[in-house]
Amino acid sequence: MNNILNFTRDDLADWFENNDMRSFRAGQIFKWLYIRQVDSFEQMTDLSKDLRAKLKENFEIPRLLLEKKQVSADTTEKFLFQLGDGQHIESVLIPEKDHFTLCVSSQVGCAQDCKFCLTAKGGFSRNLEVWEIIAQIRDARHYVMEKGFNPLRLSNLVFMGMGEPLANYKNLIGSLKIIRDSDYGLKFSAKRVTVSTSGIVPRITQLGIDTDVNLAVSLNATTDEMRTRLMPINKKYTLDQLLEACRTFTIKPRNKITFEYILLKGINDSKQDAIRLANLLKPIKAKVNLIPFNEHDQSSFKRPSKKEVSDFLQILLDRNLTAITRKSKGDDILAACGQLKAKMLP
Ligand code: SAH
Repeated sequence: MNNILNFTRDDLADWFENNDMRSFRAGQIFKWLYIRQVDSFEQMTDLSKDLRAKLKENFEIPRLLLEKKQVSADTTEKFLFQLGDGQHIESVLIPEKDHFTLCVSSQVGCAQDCKFCLTAKGGFSRNLEVWEIIAQIRDARHYVMEKGFNPLRLSNLVFMGMGEPLANYKNLIGSLKIIRDSDYGLKFSAKRVTVSTSGIVPRITQLGIDTDVNLAVSLNATTDEMRTRLMPINKKYTLDQLLEACRTFTIKPRNKITFEYILLKGINDSKQDAIRLANLLKPIKAKVNLIPFNEHDQSSFKRPSKKEVSDFLQILLDRNLTAITRKSKGDDILAACGQLKAKMLP
C-alpha cells in the first residue's frame, strides 16, 4: 500500500503512466486531497468507479491522530499528534488578522541540543516522513475549513516547530515540492513559507539552490564563544561560516533573511551585543526578530525586562537594521518558540 501523501503530483502522474492511465488524473486527485479535503477515493466523484477502486487498492489517505488540542488565551492553538509508531509531535496554528500561520515540526525531538530550548531536553528520536510533514498542513487546513473559513486562509508556514528542518533535508525538500505545488496541491506561495535553521551551513547553501522559500537563521549570539555555549552546532560551523553562507544565499530581489535572536537576561542582551549584532549583519540583507526568552521549568535562563528589550531593539533600529520584537503567542499553553515538547519529557 502506498501512502498518497508521500507523492508529489509528478510522482503520481508517473504512477498513472506506469499503470497505463492518463497522467492528468494526478491533478484531479490533488484537488480532492488538498483543496476539497476528502478522506476516501469514493468521494472523488469525477473519477470512474473502476479507477476509484484501483486507487483504493493501491493507496491510503491517512490523517494524523489528533490526541489533544489546546487553545491559548490569545487564540493560538496547539495540536498534539500521535504518530503511527506511538511517538508524538506538535504543530501550532496562529491566527492573524486575515490569515493563519502554521508552525510545523520536521523531526520527533531534536538533536541540536540548544541550551535554551525545551524541545532539546527530550533528545532526538527520528526524522519525520514527507507525509507526516504534509499531513500536519493538510489536517490543519481541514481544521480551518471546519471552523468555517476557506482552507486557503491557512496561507503561511514556518518550519519552526520541533526539530531541525535542515537535518531532515531530503524529506524537507520532498515536502516543499508538495507544499509549493502552485496549481492543485497545497498551493503555498514561496513568499509565505519560511524554513528556520540553527545553522547547518552546507545545507543552507543547498537550500538556496533547491528551493525559493524564505530562510530564517537562529543566530542568538554575537560571538563564537557565546554561540557555542548556547548552541553546540556552532562548534562545527562558526559564526563566520554561517554569516558567509547567508551573505551568498540566493534570495529574491526585495527579500531578506530573518535572523532570530533570543534575548536571555544578562547573557546575550548587552548594549555591546546589540552593536555587534548590527555590525555582523551589515553585509547581509537581513531583518532581525528579537524573541524575548520564553521561560520554562527546564532552564534557568531569564527573560529581560520590557525596557531592556526595547533598548536592545532601538540600538538595531538606530543602525538602520530592520528589526522587530516577536510577540510570544501561546505561551500559556507552551506553544511559543522553543516550548514544544510533545510529551517527550517525564
Ligand atoms: N531548529 C530550527 C527550528 C526551530 S525554530 C531552528 O533552530 O531555527 C525555534 C525558534 O525558537 C528558534 O529560533 C529558537 O532559537 C527559538 N527558541 C528556542 N527556545 C526558545 C525559548 N525558550 N524562548 C524563545 N525562543 C526560543
